[in-house]
Amino acid sequence: MTNFKVGIIGAGPSGLAMLRAFESEQKKGNPIPEIKCYEKQDNWGGMWNYTWRTGVGKYGEPLHGSMYKYLWSNGPKECLEFADYTFTEHFGQPISSYPPREVLFDYIQGRIKKSNARDFIKFNTVARWVDYLEDKQQFRVVFDDLQKNETFEEYFDYLVVGTGHFSTPNMPYFKGIDNFPGAVMHAHDFRGADQFVNQKLLLIGSSYSAEDIGVQCFKHGSDSVTISYRSNPIGTKWPEGIKEKPLVTHLEGNTAFFKDGTTEDFDAVILCTGYQHKFPFLPDNLRLKTKNRLYPDNLYKGVVFNENERLLFLGMQDQYYTFNMFDTQAWFARDYMLGRIQIPEKSLRDLDIQKWMTYEDSTITGPDHVDFQTDYIKDLISYTDYPSFNLDKVADMFKSWLNDKEINILNYRDQVYTSVMDGTQAETHHTPWMKEMDDSLERYLTEEPIDEKELDKVNYY
Ligand code: FAD
Ligand code: NAP
Ligand code: MG
Repeated sequence: MTNFKVGIIGAGPSGLAMLRAFESEQKKGNPIPEIKCYEKQDNWGGMWNYTWRTGVGKYGEPLHGSMYKYLWSNGPKECLEFADYTFTEHFGQPISSYPPREVLFDYIQGRIKKSNARDFIKFNTVARWVDYLEDKQQFRVVFDDLQKNETFEEYFDYLVVGTGHFSTPNMPYFKGIDNFPGAVMHAHDFRGADQFVNQKLLLIGSSYSAEDIGVQCFKHGSDSVTISYRSNPIGTKWPEGIKEKPLVTHLEGNTAFFKDGTTEDFDAVILCTGYQHKFPFLPDNLRLKTKNRLYPDNLYKGVVFNENERLLFLGMQDQYYTFNMFDTQAWFARDYMLGRIQIPEKSLRDLDIQKWMTYEDSTITGPDHVDFQTDYIKDLISYTDYPSFNLDKVADMFKSWLNDKEINILNYRDQVYTSVMDGTQAETHHTPWMKEMDDSLERYLTEEPIDEKELDKVNYY
C-alpha cells in the first residue's frame, strides 16, 4: 500500500537518510507514498550546516547549530561512511581519515544532491504542534512558514521525527556562577577558540565537547584549560596546559572551588554539560523522554515509538556510529511503513526494548559501547536491503580510535584507516592536525604543507 502520507520533521543527516531511503525504492521502479519534509533552517545538513549565529536564528527561533569553527571529525570517517556512497566516489581521490566540518558537509550533500530530494523539503518551516487524531488515525501538524510569517496545517499517516538531540543545552547551576565576571557559555554557543586566546578556561563536563573544546582552545592559544568532571575524568594523557579536576563546588568572583579542596582563578567558563532531548512541538503523550543513551526507552528497534506506532524517531541514540546508523534506521522505517516489516504487538515490543536496555546496562567500557551499537546496527540491517558492510571491522576501527586518543589526544587525528566500503586507504593529511589552523575545504584539498618555518614555531609533541 502506498497511498498514504509521510511527514518528516528535520532535514539533517537523519531526515535526509529518510528521503534517501524512499528515493532508493523509487529508483527500483517501486511506488512510494507521498512525502513531505520540513526544515526550520534555510538549508539542509542539520548540525553540519554551520552558522555563526548564537541564541536565535534569522526569524527568532531557538538556534539549532552547536558546531564551531575549527571542528574536525572526532572519529574516523571510515566509521561513518555511507554504504551506498563512498568518500572516494564523492572526492574522486583518497582523503585523510579525520576531515574538517566543511568537508563532511560537502560529502553529506554530495549524495543527496544527486537526487530530487530538495523538491520534497520545505525550508524555513518549523513544526509547532502535533496532535494525533484517533478517528482518522492521522497526525495533524501545525507548521509555521517563517518567511511568510504564516501558520498552516498538514495531515500525515506516519510522522518521522529527525530533529536531533544535541541542540538544547543542559545548563546546571553552580553557586556563584551568576557573579562570575568573565564569559560564561554553554558548548552550544561556542563558535571557535579565537576569543579565548591567552585566557584561563574552566570547562565543566567530561565528554566529547569538553575534550574537543579543551583541545581546540589549547591548540589555538589559550593560556590554560581545566576540565572539571562529575562522574569520571576523561583520563587521557594531557599535555602541559590541560588538566582535569573533580567537580566545581562553587565560585566566588573569578575563583572556582573544587571538590578536592583546590581553588583556581579563571577568565571564562564553558559548560560542556550535554544536551536535552527536547520536542516542544510534541504533546506529552507523544514525547520521547530520555537522557543521552545508546538505547532510549520506548523506541522499538530504536525507531518506532511504542505508545503510537505511527510515530517514528531517527537518530535519537547517543552516537558512536552516525550517518550509516541513521541510514539503517531510515531503511528500517521505510520498509516498516511500506508494510514489509511486521512488528509484534506492544507488550512484545516492550520485551524487546527491555532486552536491549538490559544489554546496554551491562556495558561498561568504551569498547563495550561500540560493540553494543554494532550489534544494534547488525540487527537493524538484517531487516532491510541496506547494503551490508563489514561491521566487525568498523567496530575494530572505533576501538583503535579510542586507543589512539588515549595514546595522544593531540595527534589522534593524524592516523589513517581503510574503508570497509571500497578498500580505499586514507591519505595522511598534508599538515599535522595540531599545526593546521585553517579548516576550510579549499585548504584541505590543496597539496601544500604549511611553511616549514611556521611548523617550527610550534612544537607540541
Ligand atoms: P541534526 O543534525 O541535529 O539535524 C536536525 C535538524 O532538524 C536540523 O536541521 C534542525 O534545524 C531541524 N529541526 C529541529 N527542530 C525542528 C522543528 N521543530 N521543525 C523543523 N525542523 C526542525 N557526528 C559525527 O559523525 N562526527 C562528528 O565529528 C560530529 N561532531 C559533532 C559535533 C558537535 C558539536 C555536535 C553537537 C554533534 C556532532 N556530531 C558528529 C553528531 C551529530 O549529531 C550527527 O553527525 C548528525 O548531525 C545528527 O543528525 P540528525 O539529523 O539526527 O540531527
Ligand atoms: P554528552 O556526551 O552527553 O556529555 C555530557 C557531559 O556533561 C558528561 O560528561 C556529563 O557527566 C556532564 N554533565 C551533565 N550534567 C552535569 C552536571 N550537572 N555537572 C557536571 N557535569 C555534568 O555531551 P557532549 O560532550 O556535548 O557531546 C554531544 C555530541 O557532540 C556527541 O555526539 C559528540 O560526538 C559531539 N561532539 C563532537 C565534536 C567533534 O569534535 N567533532 C565536538 C564536540 C561534540 P556525567 O558523565 O557525570 O554524566
Ligand atoms: Mg559518561
